Amino acid sequence: MTTDTATRPETAAPGQDDRTIATDKQPLLDVQGMKIHFPQTKGFIRKQTQWVKAVDGVSFQLQAGQTLGLVGESGCGKSTSGRGITHLIKPTEGRVILNGEDLEDLAPEDLRQRRRDMQMVFQDPYASLNPRLRVEDILAEPLKAHGVTNKAERRQRINEMLDVVGLNRGFALRYAHEFSGGQRQRIGIARALILNPKLIIADEPVAALDVSIQAQILNLLKDLQADFGLAYLFISHDLSVVRHLCNRTAVMYLGRIVEIGDTEQIFSNPMHPYTQTLLDAIPVSNPRLRRERVILKGDVPSPVDPPPGCAFAGRCPEAHARCREERPQLQAQGTDHQVACHLHDPA
Ligand code: SF4
Repeated sequence: MTTDTATRPETAAPGQDDRTIATDKQPLLDVQGMKIHFPQTKGFIRKQTQWVKAVDGVSFQLQAGQTLGLVGESGCGKSTSGRGITHLIKPTEGRVILNGEDLEDLAPEDLRQRRRDMQMVFQDPYASLNPRLRVEDILAEPLKAHGVTNKAERRQRINEMLDVVGLNRGFALRYAHEFSGGQRQRIGIARALILNPKLIIADEPVAALDVSIQAQILNLLKDLQADFGLAYLFISHDLSVVRHLCNRTAVMYLGRIVEIGDTEQIFSNPMHPYTQTLLDAIPVSNPRLRRERVILKGDVPSPVDPPPGCAFAGRCPEAHARCREERPQLQAQGTDHQVACHLHDPA
């Protein structure tokens, strides 16, 4: 597992507020003001000129056994956030606290050990599995890396995992390229589960699959959550899937969360104009329930030079003068609903 490092900028960018939703229970995952900025270089000597602010101050909490959906258009920073949480990319700033432990404080070997508690399932089951390895080798890799040296013990664990994800034990001796997309994603899920993690970060886990297979994999994820008490950070652009699977939902735009809260509250009463346009774009089969669509105009601003006010101002039908000058912060709108929009600032 390689780790990319997003170098720290010399001067910190203005941060989004680091507030998180207060809950009684200690969360399994507590992300506080996470930023991931990549240096942009130019010329033969690769002189660093600017920063790409891929994630620019993201805060949220996730309780054990719950699912948080992270949604937004491609390029909004949701996948980079997932990699930042696992420290596959080292965050530039902010804290990622897993089970009460700040990952930033850990020595490299301790961080490697903690990674067994949080695993990733990737979007593309074709690219994420080595086609030259047999399934048993793919599943044995994480066990070996975490000190399971006994071969019989590994074999037993691999067989258990194949049972859990609904694959024949005989598949252990076959190569990954011999399987269909759905079967490969089951192998990817088995690989993620084999170390008994508490948190799975699923990055568009069904986006590359046929629609008929998507439902099978989503049902498998739900069953596994019920059986093992897993927490999921479910990264997706598909809002129908998020509504079906997630207790809470966070909407990202240009590296920041613009709305977060209970999924039913967000879907029944979206308050941010960007969330409203995302929901308007969900296909509805019953023509009587169809709403008039607001088509977004304009482009997403560059993450190299985000606008000083609201990043959505250039596309927002409700934008007013203040939006172009002052960046809105997340404000509580109810028990579990926060929105970053001047239309909903407290009076
Ligand atoms: Fe639109 Fe202004 Fe709200 Fe941004 S702050 S979403 S521009 S109304």
